[in-house]
Amino acid sequence: MRVAIPLIRSSNSAATCCIAGGGPAGLMLGYLLARAGIEVLVLEKHADFLRDFRGDTVHPSTLETMHEVGILEELLQQPHQRVAKVRGRIGDTQILLNDMTRLPTHCKFMALMPQWNFLNFLTRQAHRYPTFRLKMQTEVSGLIEEQGRIAGVQADAPHGSIDVRADLVVAADGRSSVLRERAGLIVDEIGAPGDVLWMRLSKHRDDPEFFVYANRGKVLVLLDRGEYWQCGITIAKGSATEIRAKGVGALRGSIVENAPFLHDRVAEIRDWNDVKLLTVKVDRLRRWYRTGLLCIGDAAHAMHPIGGVGINLAIQDAVAAANILAGPLREGALCNNHLAKVQRRREFPAKFTQKVQAIMRRQIAGGADDVGARKVPWPIRLLEATSLPRRIRTRLMSIGIRPEHVKTRDVWKSNSAVERPSAVLETDQRRL
Ligand SMILES: Cc1cc2nc3c(=O)[nH]c(=O)nc-3n(C[C@H](O)[C@H](O)[C@H](O)COP(=O)(O)OP(=O)(O)OC[C@H]3O[C@@H](n4cnc5c(N)ncnc54)[C@H](O)[C@@H]3O)c2cc1C
Repeated sequence: MRVAIPLIRSSNSAATCCIAGGGPAGLMLGYLLARAGIEVLVLEKHADFLRDFRGDTVHPSTLETMHEVGILEELLQQPHQRVAKVRGRIGDTQILLNDMTRLPTHCKFMALMPQWNFLNFLTRQAHRYPTFRLKMQTEVSGLIEEQGRIAGVQADAPHGSIDVRADLVVAADGRSSVLRERAGLIVDEIGAPGDVLWMRLSKHRDDPEFFVYANRGKVLVLLDRGEYWQCGITIAKGSATEIRAKGVGALRGSIVENAPFLHDRVAEIRDWNDVKLLTVKVDRLRRWYRTGLLCIGDAAHAMHPIGGVGINLAIQDAVAAANILAGPLREGALCNNHLAKVQRRREFPAKFTQKVQAIMRRQIAGGADDVGARKVPWPIRLLEATSLPRRIRTRLMSIGIRPEHVKTRDVWKSNSAVERPSAVLETDQRRL
């Protein structure tokens, strides 16, 4: 028997650029395009940005971008911790992994800022521009295709489904991107040997400031959240069920083995409800675009958490995309060459960083595992013999291989609200 399903009426919307996903990549691109006078609509599936256990590390490259657009001071008024030197303990040996104090950037430190604060801040900044719109609780579910080109997206919003038409759709919907899958883009899986378990432990005033602890093949990262440590411990890929079966006591034991000073508080992990599993994925799209569609951030290249560079690469992708696309979008002259240019610009940094991450992972975790004891593996001892490898590593992780600089203009600065740029007036009529 056929059941009649009540029809929910689709409402329609339009924008010059529709961005799926309000993560670092999507919001930064939305901000930069709106600042350049382009009509942007960002669709985010969640109701807020309050998702914990996302990366916190806002590197000097991202802080530099904030400086270039004039919002660095305001950003640094948000709650954050500053880290200029990243230290680690591998086996029994302390190592200075990164030293940012001599970088050629305005901020010679990385800011540890919960991602919800960072994203809320970006959203507030973007809302200063009348051409920026953000729809929360709106999940993009499909693409609108017309005559071989992507002409918009379908999405599920609180009051029903909507169709959004756009000159350009940007998939910034993260490492499980629905849009890249719907577009049939080919993904090369690089694979990652481990997953990560995240939890919180309270922080005491006299705690050591080490950031990364590696011992017997396990890496424990402690992110300073002021009142508490956000702790991530690596586990072998797919071993979460086995680890759970051993009980929470075994997990506590692994934490203490890596960072003995936490012995007095591991009991704060009461049961598995206090632990969150994050499945690590490392991959890359072979082609980042189709006519009318571009993928950026994790949707184009999911990064390993090591080095905490995912947010920063996502931001750099957004800056490059805005630099290349703002002009053609404004002039209605966007073509595949522009989208290919974004991929050419950003593919190498993503690939190279993934390679460096794999080497770091092997050195820090694999090395410690090889010796199976509390010793520093010889490749690391060799690397640490001079400061050059550290300087190179610091630069790669903090600034990246091809740093992007904002070239788009703030078109609103010289225009009062009444004197809007003509490109905006044209697109205003296409509002919902
Ligand atoms: C365990 C772990 C730890 C990490 N730690 C760090 C760290 O410390 N520092 C760091 O820099 N990076 C870290 N990363 C990586 C970092 O989180 C990502 O690289 C970065 O957030 C990518 O940004 P993005 O905007 O491309 O994607 P995301 O941050 O994933 O944002 C995508 C957004 O799209 C939304 N979305 C998804 N699907 C849809 C849809 N269908 N419709 C609408 N919206 C949708 C999501 O809700 C999300 O808000 C870590 C990653 C992992 C797995």
